[in-house]
Amino acid sequence: MDLSQPGISKKDISRSIREDIEAREEATLHPWAVRSCHSAGRSLPEIPCPLRTCFQRDRDRILHSKAFRRLMHKTQVFISPVGDHFRTRLTHTLEVSQVSRTIARALRLNEDLTEAVALGHDLGHPPFGHNGEDILNELLGQKNGGFRHELHSVRITEHLEPMNLTVEVLEGMASQASTKKALTLEAQVVKIADRITYLHHDAEDAARAGLMSEKDLPADLRRTLGDTRQARLDRMVIDLVRETEAALESDAPAIVMSREIGEAMGALRKWMFRNVYLIPSQLAQKQKVRRVIRGLFDFYLMNPEAISPNIPEIPEDGKNLRRRAADYIAGMTDRYAIERYNRHLLPTPYEPAHDLQEDPFHV
Ligand code: MG
Repeated sequence: MDLSQPGISKKDISRSIREDIEAREEATLHPWAVRSCHSAGRSLPEIPCPLRTCFQRDRDRILHSKAFRRLMHKTQVFISPVGDHFRTRLTHTLEVSQVSRTIARALRLNEDLTEAVALGHDLGHPPFGHNGEDILNELLGQKNGGFRHELHSVRITEHLEPMNLTVEVLEGMASQASTKKALTLEAQVVKIADRITYLHHDAEDAARAGLMSEKDLPADLRRTLGDTRQARLDRMVIDLVRETEAALESDAPAIVMSREIGEAMGALRKWMFRNVYLIPSQLAQKQKVRRVIRGLFDFYLMNPEAISPNIPEIPEDGKNLRRRAADYIAGMTDRYAIERYNRHLLPTPYEPAHDLQEDPFHV
């Protein structure tokens, strides 16, 4: 665009930047990729951003949210790790985003949509990882709809910290459950990238924690997937891209891996469950997590005034206190949940209004 042309305002120029990106998407993305200009939109219509596509805007809203920042202090595998290099939910999310974007770009899918779904995919994770999720699910009970972190991610962005995201990003986040098939290829990428990523980094963190070493991995797995964790990550990602490239030529496109690598990955996952996720020291932590979450949940049912006023009452819930307590607890970081448990459920040392011991006139 010729900026020296008279009559072209700054607004016209900036608006054309988003339109340029949309035109580039049209020209360069794979025929099966989602185009941002074809988005089904948001529940509240908005004036489009002059610079960013709708998916870029969603990505940025997620990144700037408080729920996203709290992932920094939520468990990935190890609870409130002392070491500086252990993953938390935040670094896990950033690594999923990186792997997802690499795959999306290689396949000419919509990288921005993939990135938005990846950054939002664990937003609804409660404190203490899957142990926290399981006990919240039990406490809410099926008649209250239970608790699933991927549905809670959507609930955060719709009600607790409203972001007015696009239908595609919301669907992508909700479909991260193992039993659901994502509608877009971009969200399918995130789902499999999540699995590749956690297998990759949990093995490294488990080695850092002294629970395993590289040579503990079965020889056939190392032969198929690689001898180092870097080699294994490369192998899984490259296999996925190569196999999917061919699958996208068909009428029923899907994100797929070769049988050999897919089976090895499944075997690695089983091995990780047996040797890392479900070992006695982790199961002992699980019991403690259940006690903390259950204690807090019962306390807030008895003392609803102690729930933060920042947790809104949502009209659709019909004053369901169990759901509101779960909303509050699910949003807590590991350390905040422990702090609240100590404050609400453990005796605290008596503190006099002023220090009588220091008062020379005290008898
Ligand atoms: Mg995840």
